[in-house]
Amino acid sequence: MLYKKGIPSYFMKTCKISAWIKGLALFLLVCFIQAKPPGVASSQEEQQVELVGLHSVRYGESFESIALQLGIQAQHLAEFNMLDPGLLPHIGQVLLLPAGIEMAPEPGAGVVGLAETLREVAARGGEPAIEFAHRNRIVHCSSLFAGLPVLLGGDISGHPSRTVSASDRLGIWSLAYQANISPQSIMLLNTVGSPYTLSPDHYLSIPCEDDCRLEQETTEWSVAMKPLPCFPGSTCGVSIRSTEPGIAGVEFLGQSWPVAEDAGSYAALIGVNRWLTPGRYPIRITLIKNDGTAFEFERDVWIADGDYSAEVIVLSPDIDALLNDEAVTQGELLYLVAVMTGFRTERFWDGTFQMPVEGEISSPFGTLRSYNDRGFFSYHAGLDVAVPTGTPVVAPADGVVVDSSWLVVRGLATVIDHGWGVYSGFWHQSSSLVSPGDLVHAGQQIGAVGNTGLSTAAHLHWELWVNGFAVNPLQWVEVSFP
Ligand SMILES: [Zn+2]
Repeated sequence: MLYKKGIPSYFMKTCKISAWIKGLALFLLVCFIQAKPPGVASSQEEQQVELVGLHSVRYGESFESIALQLGIQAQHLAEFNMLDPGLLPHIGQVLLLPAGIEMAPEPGAGVVGLAETLREVAARGGEPAIEFAHRNRIVHCSSLFAGLPVLLGGDISGHPSRTVSASDRLGIWSLAYQANISPQSIMLLNTVGSPYTLSPDHYLSIPCEDDCRLEQETTEWSVAMKPLPCFPGSTCGVSIRSTEPGIAGVEFLGQSWPVAEDAGSYAALIGVNRWLTPGRYPIRITLIKNDGTAFEFERDVWIADGDYSAEVIVLSPDIDALLNDEAVTQGELLYLVAVMTGFRTERFWDGTFQMPVEGEISSPFGTLRSYNDRGFFSYHAGLDVAVPTGTPVVAPADGVVVDSSWLVVRGLATVIDHGWGVYSGFWHQSSSLVSPGDLVHAGQQIGAVGNTGLSTAAHLHWELWVNGFAVNPLQWVEVSFP
């Protein structure tokens, strides 16, 4: 996650980022325009004062393991954050990374699947469950949840903090905290009188040495989720397979999601709110078979940090005034909510989506935005591609056109319903070739790029909604759902 120019220095140093981000959740998502004309450097927006990376501490990480990936000293990382290098950072704590340094993927990194057991995950790294559990500090079945980032097999010498050893005296409390059990339970299980009496490299046994098999699993039905982990502002697909038909339900993130029947199985598409705080969230999947018997599956799912960047946008007074006119912005948003929600049981697309235009992505999805330095109260709800006026816009996938009309902020806007609660919106066009009710196919031209509405340069803004939430459209170009 990189923060571009304009972040006040007091903000960068206080580390109160998470509290600050929570405040943003009070605001409805609104998409506003920002596009750089290709090849033209704008004056103020191009100034980069300082770059700083952010990293949200994950389960099992320490200053040592993070610093190892960054190629710097653990002490340097801790001191850069004005923290004690002798303590473990909290899970979810946001650390500032020194300028110009980014996290690299870890060797052996994996993610626990929706219904995977301890033994199944360990087998992927070719090791027994107990060793896998030690390596990843899995001390209780409740700490093996879906989407959990784990280390699979391989050499663990580079990750001393991941090995539960007596030299890590904070280990017992950290393990107990993560497993939601008392430190005394771990000590009793290991007949340890005091953590200070442990000999170096003493492995602690874990309370859960069974396979962490989920009780409700049977051979008659299975559940899966992809991709894992989920991120705020992304799509997560849940699939349910059963040998017998029934009625399936999916409850996640405080709501139930529409489930579609798909070639003998069931699927739900979850649009994860961009403002959701990363963390563990329970999912509940049910299947009531036609003979009345029911299957139930429950597990926590990890929602990881989306690693979005932030940008400050300088607007002219007249555009700024319009963006501050709630009658205009809220009215337009409510109109979009009416157009871009609703569940059609038919699925029009197949496989991945294609880009509606090819060109430079001038602004990715999800970037936090501060207009005229008033604070980061909105985010970019779509994907901007900077291409000249008149460039053909094509449908990214099959669907039915549900709207093509002029809006104040979004200009000439076209919306396609792809089915199953998935909608594409295209803003700021110069012309439209389609009308509501038209069936369009992937690759078919639906309009042309423009600079209409509140836009500073010709570009296409592509916005994708999944069951009521704006999500990253690029994910649909890379991942095939369901
Ligand atoms: Zn945009």
